[in-house]
Amino acid sequence: MRPFDYVEAQGLSQAATLGRGTGQGQADSPTQFLAGGTSLIDLMKLDVLRPRRVVGLSTLRDANDRIEVTGRELRLGGFAKMAAVARHPLVLAHCPAVAQSLALAASAQLRNMATLGGNVLQKTRCTYYRDTTWAACNKRTPGSGCAALTGFNRNHAILGIDDSCIAQYPGDLGVVFAALETQVDLTGPTGPRQIPFTALHSPAMGRPHIETTLHEGEIITQFRIPLGAATRRSVYVKVRDRASYEFAISSAGVALDLEGERVRQVRIGLGGMAYKPWRSLEGEQALSDKPLTQANMEAAAAAAIAGAKTHGLNDYKPELARRTLVRALQEAKAMTPAQQA
Ligand code: SF4
Repeated sequence: MRPFDYVEAQGLSQAATLGRGTGQGQADSPTQFLAGGTSLIDLMKLDVLRPRRVVGLSTLRDANDRIEVTGRELRLGGFAKMAAVARHPLVLAHCPAVAQSLALAASAQLRNMATLGGNVLQKTRCTYYRDTTWAACNKRTPGSGCAALTGFNRNHAILGIDDSCIAQYPGDLGVVFAALETQVDLTGPTGPRQIPFTALHSPAMGRPHIETTLHEGEIITQFRIPLGAATRRSVYVKVRDRASYEFAISSAGVALDLEGERVRQVRIGLGGMAYKPWRSLEGEQALSDKPLTQANMEAAAAAAIAGAKTHGLNDYKPELARRTLVRALQEAKAMTPAQQA
């Protein structure tokens, strides 16, 4: 075990000060924040992350775990627990895809511990990243190469990748957040700011060790989802190798507003397929203002993965992504008014 300092932050401003050293989105920074601890502790045990200081954030939980509807927004605190959000009546009524993505993630024990902020920042499950006996991993060791390009890449991404890294973003909730135009409230040493959720994760762009656009010492305090008819008719479909406690090999988060058969508004997120939480504007444009027929759903799914690039063992993924998205659209279409709030 590597020695490290542990300090418990007393409030947001002290956390921001103690958080100097968390870097500008780097995967392996000398200071790490600890919220639920369900990811950081694993990666420290594996010797992937080697912080010299861990800053505990438990005192921030009570003030930042709200679950509420204010005006036309669903507001979810960055420290709200996955389990609490998944079963909350407001979430189930106004945005069922959020509840479904959380209920289908991880185990009950993890959902009771993990926070929403930590969940969306979880790191890739790429084997080469998590196994330090492999030298070539640009995300863990910048400039070392990428073992997955020609290695075991069955679960790796096909969208938003380059040759520096083809890791798949592993989360579920992030896929729904990306689709639903979620805003993220942050607090850090220079004060509060807001960013779109789709701007939270950095693209690979030859430097996959930079994972987020967070500034040094910044903490996610809240997520805000704009509500409407589409969010009430939203679903999350997850495909995985086994029925529970497993990451997605493919998933889709969809929100639909229909006028009869006509698509008034559609939002599409894809999971298990991309380097970062993926919103498919191409899929949305292909369906917008069209009748939601089987042919149009399939055309939208084809548009959503048009830029896909595979690497051998994951050649099956484009077809799986198409089928997953079509299924999610069918399920959203089949939702009855009685199931809506
Ligand atoms: Fe590392 Fe990314 Fe390559 Fe995996 S895919 S080995 S995380 S650089």
